[in-house]
Amino acid sequence: MTVAHSDDQAVQLSLHDLISTLEAILLRNGASGPVARVLAANCASAERDGSQSHGLFRMAGYVKNLRSGFVDGRAVPQVRDVGSAFLLIDAGNGYARPALEAAIELAIDKARSAGACILAIGNAHHNGPLWLDVEPFAEAGLIALSVVNSVTYVVPHGGHKRLYGTNPMAFAVPRADGQVLLFDQATAAMAHGEVRIAARESKILPEGIGLDASGQPTRSPQAILDGGALLPFGGHKGSSIAMMIDILAGALTGSNFSHQVDWSAYPGAESAHTGQTIILIDPTKGNGSLRMFTGRIEELVEAMAGAGQTRLPGERRLAARKLAAERGIAIEAETWKQLQAL
Ligand code: NDP
Repeated sequence: MTVAHSDDQAVQLSLHDLISTLEAILLRNGASGPVARVLAANCASAERDGSQSHGLFRMAGYVKNLRSGFVDGRAVPQVRDVGSAFLLIDAGNGYARPALEAAIELAIDKARSAGACILAIGNAHHNGPLWLDVEPFAEAGLIALSVVNSVTYVVPHGGHKRLYGTNPMAFAVPRADGQVLLFDQATAAMAHGEVRIAARESKILPEGIGLDASGQPTRSPQAILDGGALLPFGGHKGSSIAMMIDILAGALTGSNFSHQVDWSAYPGAESAHTGQTIILIDPTKGNGSLRMFTGRIEELVEAMAGAGQTRLPGERRLAARKLAAERGIAIEAETWKQLQAL
C-alpha cells in the first residue's frame, strides 16, 4: 500500500488503499468477507466525498458494535420478492448497506418493469450517509427517495423528551450530463454526528439546535449529548417529517421505532437497530423518455440559478470527490493513528 506523507498533519490515500485498510479492520473485528468489503467501500466513499460525520469518524463505532455482538457482522441478508413492485429485505441484524447491495439489481429491474419499486429493509443498522444509497439508482436513470430511522435524540415539536431519531432522507434524480442531482439531510436541526464533532472541538452551537437535560434551550453540544435532546429542523414541519420517516422506515419494515432501540445489554455498542425504505420511480413511465425528463431537470436547475441559488445540494460532495481523485483522500494524522489501533 502506498501512503504518501504530504506533511506532518495528514496522510494521502487512494480510494483503493483506504478501502483495503478499512476492510482489514472490519475483517479483524468479526465481519465476514462480503460484509467487510461492502462496508469498507461505503465508509471510504463517504470519507472521499467529504462526510465529516459518516466517514472514518464512524469506524470506531463499527468496530465496537461488531465486538459487542449488537450488530451481526456475518449476517446474510434475505431478499423476499413480495410484490410486483415491492422487495422486503431482512438484513439479519447486520448493516443495512450489504442488505441493499443484495437487492440493487432486482430493484432496478422491477422499477423499470413495474414503473416503481419499494425496498423495505428491516432488522438493519445504518451508520452511513444516505447519498451513497440513492446515487446508484439515479445513475441507472431512476428517481430514488430513501429514509432511515435512527436512535432517539430528537424531541417532537412542543415536546420535552427524546422520541425520534435524526431520521435522514435523501432524494436523487438523473441529470442530462450523466450526473445526479441529490440532497441528503437529517430531519434534526443538526445531525447527531455533527453534534459529537462540535462537542469534541468544544464549539458553541447556534441557537435552535437543542435542549439540555432539563428541557431548556442550550447552545452546548455536550449538554445535548448528556441527556438533552436535539430539535427537529423547521419546527412542527420537520417534526412531522421525522414522524413520517419513523413510520416508513420503522413500521413498514417491521423494525424498531427510533425510541425503541436498546443496546443496553451490549456494552460498548451504539447503533440504530431500525429500518430503511427506498422508493424508486422510473421517470420514463411519467414523461416519455429519460432525455425529456432530464431536460426538465436542467430547466429547473437553470431556473434555480436564475432565482439566485448559488450552489446545488450535492455540489460540495462532488467537489470533494473530484479533489480526492486528483490528490488522494487526506486523512488527519490522529485519525490515521486511530485506524491503525483498530
Ligand atoms: P447538511 O445540512 O450538511 O446538508 C444537507 C443537504 O443540503 C446536503 O445535500 C447538502 O449538499 C445541501 N446543502 C448544504 N448547504 C447548502 C447550500 N448552501 N445550498 C444548497 N444546498 C446545500 O446535512 P446534515 O447535517 O443534515 O446530514 C449529514 C449527513 O448525516 C447526511 O449524509 C445524512 O444521511 C447523515 N445521517 C445519517 C444518519 C443515519 O442514521 N445513517 C442519521 C442522520 C444523518 P452537500 O452535500 O453538497 O453539502
